[in-house]
Formats: sequence, C-alpha cells, structure tokens
Amino acid sequence: MSRANCLTMCNATELIHSIPVDAQTGAVSVPIYQTSTFVQEAPGVNKGYDYARTGNPTRTVLEQLIAKLEKGTTGIAFSSGLAAIDAIVKLLKTGDEILAVDDIYGGAYRLFTSVYQQFGIKLNFVDTSDANQVINAITPHTKLIWLETPTNPTLKISDIATIAKIAKANNCLLCVDNTFASPALQQPLTLGADIVVHSGTKYLGGHSDLIAGLVVTKEKELGDRIKYLQNACGAILAPFDSWLLIRGIETLHLRIRQHCHSALAVAEFLSAHPAVDKVFYPGLASHPNHEVAKKQAKGFGGIVSFTLKEDTNEAALAFVTSTSLFKLAESLGGIKSLVSHPANMTHKSIPAEKRRAAGVSDSLIRLSIGLEETDDLIADLEDAFEKITLKQHAGNQRAAAC
Ligand SMILES: *Cc1c(COP(=O)(O)O)cnc(C)c1O
Repeated sequence: MSRANCLTMCNATELIHSIPVDAQTGAVSVPIYQTSTFVQEAPGVNKGYDYARTGNPTRTVLEQLIAKLEKGTTGIAFSSGLAAIDAIVKLLKTGDEILAVDDIYGGAYRLFTSVYQQFGIKLNFVDTSDANQVINAITPHTKLIWLETPTNPTLKISDIATIAKIAKANNCLLCVDNTFASPALQQPLTLGADIVVHSGTKYLGGHSDLIAGLVVTKEKELGDRIKYLQNACGAILAPFDSWLLIRGIETLHLRIRQHCHSALAVAEFLSAHPAVDKVFYPGLASHPNHEVAKKQAKGFGGIVSFTLKEDTNEAALAFVTSTSLFKLAESLGGIKSLVSHPANMTHKSIPAEKRRAAGVSDSLIRLSIGLEETDDLIADLEDAFEKITLKQHAGNQRAAAC
C-alpha cells in the first residue's frame, strides 16, 4: 500500500484488505507465530526478528494495522490498556506535570495518583470540555495533556483540535485515550494530537475475550521512544491475543455502526422516561458538547449513561440487578450489552467527593449497548423500570404498614 493510501485509509474495505495474506502459504488469516526466539544466520543477522519480546510477526501485523487506522506512523501493542498508558507516563520525569480530564478512567486515575505521584509526577485534573480551564491550569511544568473524549461515564466531549493548539503553544504532548470512540469514529492524530492510546479490550477487540492495549504516535521519533519502553519494560501483547485483536478489528466498522444506531435509540427512550433524571449521550442535541462531537467524530458511540430521579445508591442497585439482556459487569464495547453502576464499580477508587464533583452521582448508571436487536434492548430496560417501580411500591406499603 502506498503512503498516500495509508494516510487516507479509514473505510471498511481498505481496512479489511490492508490485513496481509500470508506470503508463504497463502493463508487468509494472519498466522500466529507462537515462538520466543528466531534462528539467526550469523550473530545479528536475521529476518527482522531476534527475540519475541522485541518483536513478533503476528504483533507486527496488529501494530501496523492500528497505526494505519489511527493515521499515525507507529503502532505499539501492550498486554493491557493500562500497560499502554503506563508506557506513555514513562516518557516523563520527576517534577513533570500531567494535566488530565477530571472524570478520567478509574484505572488511569489510580495509576497516575497512587503509583506515579510517589515518583514526583504532579497531577492536575480539570474539566477539559472547557478549553479555558485547560489554559488556566497549564504551568511551566506541564508536559502532558491527557484527554478522554467521550469520557467515562459522563460522556463529556473535549475539543481535540482546540486543545491540540493549546498543547503545541505550551510545548506539551497531547495524548487522547480513544477507547470510547474508536478510530472508526474519531482519529485524534488528524486533529493535532501527538499520541493515541486504546484499551484494545473494548471496541477494538469487540468480543469481551481479551485484555490488550495499543499506542499510536503521529511522529516516528516519539514512536521509537515508546517502542524502546515497550521492549525495556516488557509488557508486550502475546501472539495469540494479537491475533484475536486483529480478528476483532476486522469487523470494527460494522459493529460500531450498529452500536451507534442502538445507542441513540436507547438514549432517546431514556430521555422520555419519567423515572430518568439526566441522560448523557453526545448524540442528543441536548448534550452540552453535541456540536463539538458532531464536528470531530463520525458518530457518537455505544455508551449511554443516565441518572435516576431517585438519586440514591439503592435505586441504582435495584435497577442494575433488574435487567436481563444487559448483564451486570465492568467493561464495555463487546457484543453483549452490559450495565454498570460506576459509583460502586469502575469509579470506586475515586474518592466520593471527587467522583460527585465530576458528575458521577450516586444513581448514575452506565450502559454499554451491544449488538442485540435495538427493540429487545429497549424492552429489557422498560422491564427493569417496571420491576424497580414495583419494588419501591412494595417498600412503601411495608413502611406504611409499620
Ligand atoms: C478499560 C479502559 C482502560 C484500561 O484498559 P485495560 O485494557 O482494562 O487495561 C483505559 N481507558 C479507558 C477509557 C478504558 O475504558
């Protein structure tokens, strides 16, 4: 594929045909090179591989594929999303500061604060959906701006192009965690970001059957530094998991289209429901950053969050245990729909005050819309609302009888 083709590639046809057929055997599926080492003809003379931590041909296919999808120069595969994030933080040194989105993924919050703070990395969390807050929070020590857009779980949208300009003017790297949108909807490197990171565990894998992380850089030099860290620290993705992730990515565009379609229908259903207080979905015209989302992404994704009029832990717990198609589980982006209660699950490691301040109230419920029929998903939610109303009613009668 020519360089020009790589840079314009984004549709499903090109994606599918950019995955190479095995030159040696004609195998249509990428071979899994389950090997730790490679025979050398003479010391240092080899066919491009010497030891499988440094490089593995199955992983190489994946790394080139994600680089193409994100329109970067270098793709680097890790054993988890957090291992990928960890490699990026290791670009920094003591005294450097990270300016990060306030409702950041819980695991990234834990890594930044309870692991890296003790090495003298400073943290500053702001609402990056307001670019002025980013400008005001930058200090001479800020070296890395960290965005998630949409965020988890309040689906806030930050303007990547605007913040990229701010980063550039202040000599900071801009990294976007693109897990929620996926490159099928949004390509941050084309909007000025320097680094994209993914939990491949979610939409890229797409089947809830692996843990993986990916990094893509716009510049080769930065890519080489992170590749160095990948080899030096060793949290590589195994050949079989690389193969599973390639297989997931092959259907990314098709799956994302359906996730987006059902998510919008669910968001509209929830918006009209009397038990629901707020609905968070960037595809709704009522979303405060709807216009920014429309400008920088081709769609609004498969995650919908909402709060209940009865804003309590108990009401949320009753709901998340009353669905049947939506399975109660952490994670997202798979074929099966999932429901979660962030205050008690993914966001438990964030102090309650901080969590509420970032908009994750006690009754906030997050849905990962899967690939079931849209109408079945809505019927399941309708059912859960009826069940919790009955439970509340029974509770009230008991209270009255006392
Ligand atoms: C899941 C997730 C991660 C962490 O990825 P793992 O593969 O679980 O290590 C990071 N960022 C976001 C937005 C995520 O959803």
